[in-house]
Amino acid sequence: MSANPSWRYSAVLMGSPILLTLFVHDEALASRVFSLIKRYEDLFTVNRANSEVMAINHAAGRHPVAVSRPVFELIKCAKAASMMPGSAFNLAIGPLVKLWRIGFKGDRVPEADAIAARLRITRVQDVVLDDAAGSVFLTQAGMEIDLGAIAKGFIADRVRDYLHQQGVSEGLINLGGNVQTLGTPQERWSIGVKKPFAQADALIGTLEVANQSVVTSGTYERYFEQDGRRWHHILDPRSGYPLENELDSVTIISSDSLDGDIWTTLLFGVGVEKGCELLKQREDIEALFVTKTHEVILSSRRHFSYTHVDDSYRFID
Ligand code: ADP
Ligand code: MG
Ligand code: MG
Repeated sequence: MSANPSWRYSAVLMGSPILLTLFVHDEALASRVFSLIKRYEDLFTVNRANSEVMAINHAAGRHPVAVSRPVFELIKCAKAASMMPGSAFNLAIGPLVKLWRIGFKGDRVPEADAIAARLRITRVQDVVLDDAAGSVFLTQAGMEIDLGAIAKGFIADRVRDYLHQQGVSEGLINLGGNVQTLGTPQERWSIGVKKPFAQADALIGTLEVANQSVVTSGTYERYFEQDGRRWHHILDPRSGYPLENELDSVTIISSDSLDGDIWTTLLFGVGVEKGCELLKQREDIEALFVTKTHEVILSSRRHFSYTHVDDSYRFID
């Protein structure tokens, strides 16, 4: 990190601690950044009765709802990510997320019948967008859009853009799982890769980046235990159950945090081998996989360097 003095500002938003690091002492700027995050959270949230996204959900099976530009654009992007071949991403996953309640009070494994019934109302094709009207229509009653896997990425990018506009050339925003960095401090930013199922500050390694986003999705972030198993919060839209494969976490290094969000979930669905294959078409997006068998695998290493610090994991370059 930079040798210049830095200031850290924090807030709790979107259900997680938010951390802003700046190299200027500017409370007012920090509070404008937090207000910006809050405004977007108010548009996108599905954890409260009212938001623009909830207005779409409330009208499911009845009528289209015209929404503001950011909401329309993010939904459009989430729909495209959901349609990518093999993608585990599904913006219409809401009814299943609400059924499982993972990370909320009362989480337990639902009845198989209930899961099957909800699967029928999570079809991406049933999210109908009208560009001219700027409206979104969920054609089946009970459908619900959930932008939980993608909203933080979008917001992290807006914070970066806002800081740039304000003449800030170096900084870092950490939205809990999504880190977006600005500029090249004297050395590069050092971002930790968490060790799954260990104490919160335990690291497998660190990523050194500049002007890059680092996004991690991990099965260890939110889960509950029942019947001797862990049930985590990243759901497989094909089965309706938590995704099962060789992975404990996926970290994406990219310019935009939005890409990080899309690709973490997408790659969770396809696994390491297919994931590395897909990334060959995207020079700008790179992945670090952490497997259940304690391996750390990089798809490539063009825009960052990686320092491995935990011998209980095998680093495969
Ligand atoms: P975090 O909330 O820790 O940032 P993620 O970015 O992985 O974690 O997003 C997980 C959230 O995304 C879940 O809490 C849920 O709201 C939503 N979600 C779960 N499964 C899917 C899926 N298959 N596709 C899209 N969104 C999902
Ligand atoms: Mg996330
Ligand atoms: Mg994600």
